[in-house]
Amino acid sequence: MRKAFKRILVFLLLVTTMLPATLLTACGHQHTFSSTWSFDDNYHWREATCEHDEVADRGLHQSATREEMEGDDIYDVVYCLICGKEMSRTLHVHTFDTDSWSSDEHQHWHSATCRHISLRIDLADHILETICFTIGGVDWDITRCTICGYEVARVEHIHTFSEEWAYDENQHWHPATCIHAHLTDSIGPHQFNYALVEENGELFDVYTCTECQFVLRVPHQHTFESKFAYDEDYHWHPCTCGHDDAVEKRPHIFSSHTYSDGDEIIYEEFCLDCGYVKTKMPI
Ligand SMILES: [Zn+2]
Ligand SMILES: [Zn+2]
Ligand SMILES: [Zn+2]
Ligand SMILES: [Zn+2]
Ligand SMILES: [Zn+2]
Ligand SMILES: [Zn+2]
Ligand SMILES: [Zn+2]
Ligand SMILES: [Zn+2]
Repeated sequence: MRKAFKRILVFLLLVTTMLPATLLTACGHQHTFSSTWSFDDNYHWREATCEHDEVADRGLHQSATREEMEGDDIYDVVYCLICGKEMSRTLHVHTFDTDSWSSDEHQHWHSATCRHISLRIDLADHILETICFTIGGVDWDITRCTICGYEVARVEHIHTFSEEWAYDENQHWHPATCIHAHLTDSIGPHQFNYALVEENGELFDVYTCTECQFVLRVPHQHTFESKFAYDEDYHWHPCTCGHDDAVEKRPHIFSSHTYSDGDEIIYEEFCLDCGYVKTKMPI
């Protein structure tokens, strides 16, 4: 209804503005013409309303385009500016530039390429991601939208490292928390504290790094001096780890020999293992 009404309105406007002057014939008769237009595909005109076979205001249609709404649909209507004849009517489909994004500080969208330039589709907030790029030998943290590429920030990259230690058997370090995961800070050998720990009757050497949490725990091996100690009956290797219980005392294995010392012949009885001399006398 509205469409029809609008068309009539346009038509009436045209009629009032275009109302032709009446034409005088030689005999003084004044032809009169219809206030409504007649038309065919190409021309419009006014028919005479007197008895004469005359037309007035004949002319080619002058096309113009207007937009009409039908419900949610938009139609592009091509019509004659003069007579109002509708020459075509096509459903308008908005077109959008889906190959490139438009964006502002917060959002991106595809803009219309038809005359409805303010229309937007796929409107959404940027999805931001920060990636480190090396440009001209400098690392930059560039924050930009993963969808449209809009860049919101660019700052020079500074490596960051964990407060926590990472470690292996030999050393500890602070690992990078930035994308340069291979970088380390404060790398160095463990600084061990030693403790001897007994568990279920077994002894363990426990080395704990004072810097990181690394603990090396190995079964305790007693250590002994390479030199013998001895008394009259036994010889032994003294313990250097403080476990005197671990010391094994063995009886001397005696042997004897004689040797000359200047004018004297000396008889000596001694231990073959430790060298303890039990008897030494001239003979
Ligand atoms: Zn006439
Ligand atoms: Zn026309
Ligand atoms: Zn459009
Ligand atoms: Zn975006
Ligand atoms: Zn880094
Ligand atoms: Zn350590
Ligand atoms: Zn020991
Ligand atoms: Zn001995």
